[in-house]
Amino acid sequence: MKIYLDNSATTITDKQVVKAMLPYFTKNYGNASSLHYAGSEAQKALSDARKKFAEYIHALPEEIIFTSGGTESDNIALMGVVQYYRANDENKIHIITSNIEHPAILNTCKALEGWGVEVTYLEVDEEGIISLEQLKSSIKPYTKLISIMHANNEIGTIQPIKEIGEIAKEHKILFHTDAVQTLTKVKIDIQDINVDLISFSAHKIHGPKGIGALYIKKHTPLKPITYGGSHEYKKRPGTENIPGIIGFAKALEISKHEDIEKMTKLRDKLIDGLLKIPKSKLNGHKTNRLCNNVNVGFEFIEGEGILMHLSDKGICVSTGSACSSASLEPSHVLKAIKLRHEIIHGAIRFTLSKYTTEKDIDYTIKTVGSIVKKLRKFSALHEGKKYDIIEYEDTHDHANEE
Ligand code: PLP
Repeated sequence: MKIYLDNSATTITDKQVVKAMLPYFTKNYGNASSLHYAGSEAQKALSDARKKFAEYIHALPEEIIFTSGGTESDNIALMGVVQYYRANDENKIHIITSNIEHPAILNTCKALEGWGVEVTYLEVDEEGIISLEQLKSSIKPYTKLISIMHANNEIGTIQPIKEIGEIAKEHKILFHTDAVQTLTKVKIDIQDINVDLISFSAHKIHGPKGIGALYIKKHTPLKPITYGGSHEYKKRPGTENIPGIIGFAKALEISKHEDIEKMTKLRDKLIDGLLKIPKSKLNGHKTNRLCNNVNVGFEFIEGEGILMHLSDKGICVSTGSACSSASLEPSHVLKAIKLRHEIIHGAIRFTLSKYTTEKDIDYTIKTVGSIVKKLRKFSALHEGKKYDIIEYEDTHDHANEE
């Protein structure tokens, strides 16, 4: 049995998406900047895809630029705004973000601090939500940008972006949100929210990897961060990835509202089933969370142990975010919501997709239950078991030691 519950890391590329992309590798492979018919075909495909994308969020086509993914979109948004103000000789620039952002934002902010930009990292509450009061009180006369993610990739908590947008507008500050995890899962209508920049990525929504988009509201002050041709409204140079862009637009086109309802039902079933396991805790917000995210901490055992045992049984999950899973450092997000050490170390993220079935969820609940039971038997920390302090007899002859 193979059950993939790591859809916040990446998703299967939908067969319809692959089918839509294929002709753009082998038949209509022209460069959208070329003047001949092959170039015109590519140019038409590019502008149709851009139009489709813009319509999806009620934006204008010229407000959408395609990038190589969520990471690049985040970099262009933050660095592009800073570069604009630096070019205008503004010597004091302040950005407000949160301490649970994806590394694509946090590490960009670190780089900007190296350039002399001031950054405030807002704290979040125990469910992962920022404080609007703290946001307001962090604003300085030279705050140029607020960047708060729409939903967190580890715990699924959704931020109040409408309210954040209103605060930004009131203070005439630009607002960027990383919506990589929310596209197709939470309605994004830019006529409804005051937002100037939004980052998106295709591979989280059954599109291909290596393609992303950035919504840039008309008249937003932003300079390119790489230099080359005049592609993408002079904001992101480089020959456009037409097959990727076609795939991204197709993935959006085939996403359905019913998928959200289906995932929400299965998510709640998984949460209920996992919380029946003794000493387990749901991390993140109970209701204000992504329709596909379940993050549960199991006390007294290591998440990595659970993950490997689940993998042996055919189930893919994650401990924290995939990007940081190579490090043994506890997740910055789980630390930020002030979880106890025992919960952080036993935290597992299960992320569903529209292809997840009830059978997958039933099997997962059963399998996690038996793995947790088995691992706890061996855990020195488990309730009822005391640490066994073994006193070794020192038989070594130390006489000749220096
Ligand atoms: N932002 C968030 C919230 C993410 O979850 C991810 C990927 O996990 C990214 C940005 C980076 O996106 P990409 O993999 O397309 O570069």
